[in-house]
Amino acid sequence: METREKAVVVFSGGQDSTTCLFWALKQFKEVVALCFRYGQKHILEVDMAHAIARRAGVEFFEMEVPLIGTLGRNSLTDESVEMDSRKPAESYPNTFVPGRNLFFLSIAAVFARERGIFDLVTGVSQTDFSGYPDCRDSFIRSLNVTLNLAMDEQFVIHTPLMWRDKAQTWALADELGVFDIVRTQTLTCYNGIPGDGCGACPACVLRKRGLDQYLRQKRGDGLE
Ligand code: ZN
Repeated sequence: METREKAVVVFSGGQDSTTCLFWALKQFKEVVALCFRYGQKHILEVDMAHAIARRAGVEFFEMEVPLIGTLGRNSLTDESVEMDSRKPAESYPNTFVPGRNLFFLSIAAVFARERGIFDLVTGVSQTDFSGYPDCRDSFIRSLNVTLNLAMDEQFVIHTPLMWRDKAQTWALADELGVFDIVRTQTLTCYNGIPGDGCGACPACVLRKRGLDQYLRQKRGDGLE
């Protein structure tokens, strides 16, 4: 059987992909972090991603794909679009970058294949998916089949967070011994503020709710 010793992690320097990077380090002998500049307003996240990769001792690649941010109008890449503070009833919040995970994973697959790597890791979660369709398990499974057919290879897309909510993602970071790194060195905030962030944007609210829930559970467990 083919040995699978290496993986490429789609890595943004946020809470989820950082947890996945350290998860991958436990599963694979060699891990490569692939980070995209897709036109995001808060480019600080790429510098933070680089610093985390250095700290983790993994190879770090940055790829310029600004087209992705301009194809579909959204508030993460377009300065003129004001961010939705919550999900509209009938559609996605405008923080949704259409096609982002489709492009990222497709590019990651070609990038990985060139290096003889067929394991891809992504931090998407259906449980806390903010209404983004390309975070759902059905999309990932479908894309995995498509990538295999497109390149006649046997890729495996790993999604360690798919069925975890944010509290469970914090628990995983803690299990992996990187709780403090994830808490202080990552950038999830839509307003570009590292660590605990601005506290008010939807990404911060989701992150903090999960963190508070996890810390409460941990304290509760300690008393038992
Ligand atoms: Zn924020």
